Amino acid sequence: MSERTIYLDHAATTPLDPRVLDTMIPYLTTEYGNASSIYTLGRHAMQAIDRSREQVAEIIHCRPTEIAFVGCGSESDNLAIKGMAYASQKKGNHLITSAIEHHAVLHTCQYLERSGFKTTYLPVDEYGRVNPDDVARAITNQTVLVSIMYANNEIGTIEPVAEIGRICRARKIPFHVDAVQAGGAIPIDVAELNADLLSLSAHKFYGPKGMGILYVRQGMRILPQLQGGSQERGRRAGTENVAGIVGTATALRLAREELPQVTPRIKALRDRLIEGILTIPRSRLTGHPEDRLPNNASFCFEGVEGESILLNLDLLGIAASTGSACTSGSVDPSHVLIALGLPPEWSHGSLRLTLGKSNTGADVDAVLAALPDIVEKVRGLGL
Ligand code: PLP
Repeated sequence: MSERTIYLDHAATTPLDPRVLDTMIPYLTTEYGNASSIYTLGRHAMQAIDRSREQVAEIIHCRPTEIAFVGCGSESDNLAIKGMAYASQKKGNHLITSAIEHHAVLHTCQYLERSGFKTTYLPVDEYGRVNPDDVARAITNQTVLVSIMYANNEIGTIEPVAEIGRICRARKIPFHVDAVQAGGAIPIDVAELNADLLSLSAHKFYGPKGMGILYVRQGMRILPQLQGGSQERGRRAGTENVAGIVGTATALRLAREELPQVTPRIKALRDRLIEGILTIPRSRLTGHPEDRLPNNASFCFEGVEGESILLNLDLLGIAASTGSACTSGSVDPSHVLIALGLPPEWSHGSLRLTLGKSNTGADVDAVLAALPDIVEKVRGLGL
């Protein structure tokens, strides 16, 4: 077992950046006021929240009033979809999404189906891309929301969300973008995307776990899903997690500032991984060859069990995933790989390597040195 973990699962989560922690500590210790209190300690907390909201708004190009801080990416997706669906019940009951969304979106749509909503699950092509024309064709006079992810968490494919947003805006259909995987990895501009609702999660960009953001375009009405106080302009009841909010804004700012330096380096490491791994017999890249997240290298190996690869990599101190963190541990291929149309002999053998700021060329070398033998060994074991 090597000393240091070679962490290649940044799509699952990222470590908290120490600079983010530094900005959070005062709000976990001395500045402990409740932001709703009118005395100085409370006002300090509210000022910190206001500053954080302004920072986030500036980065994603919207007004501070359009930002709601919530408890995680899943909550942001739930609030966007349920909040819009329930607020629009008089207009219609039809939702449109894709077959490869995260469960935070898919399970929310399925939940709404139990109370009378209908969902169209759009197919994707072999690279995991939604066709914007399919979105246009699926819209009916009952459609109240389209929800399409910016980038897929398993295969890294970037969806044509700006084009889908244009279609939705022209047809006056609210458009939600699950940007949880894109946040921190590529620039996010809600105006360019024509997004009406957009979800982010801080732990994907070196911020604290348990913190999400929901952008709600001015004029969009969503029904709150938590009843209680009027925090977050009535969109999310509950005493604000001031330290979490401050950390989220700092992490997003650092990610945006460092993107120009970090992206080319990570992309080069990703491309070396892809090139090296594709020399393994009966291997293929999953996701789009070009339009993919800069840190995502995902593969399938024929006649192999993905979990066996993970266990063997783990013995060498290499942390990877078969797909999304939520589907790890399940032996069935994920809904994403099934939607790509991969045959079962291939879809069982998936591997996702997602790079982050701390990875080096030596990490890539370690994977490239170990993986061919691992695949050969576990392939010999049969499926
Ligand atoms: N949406 C996508 C695309 C994700 O990848 C994830 C987490 O992996 C989520 C939503 C949920 O985010 P959270 O873990 O903050 O609830």
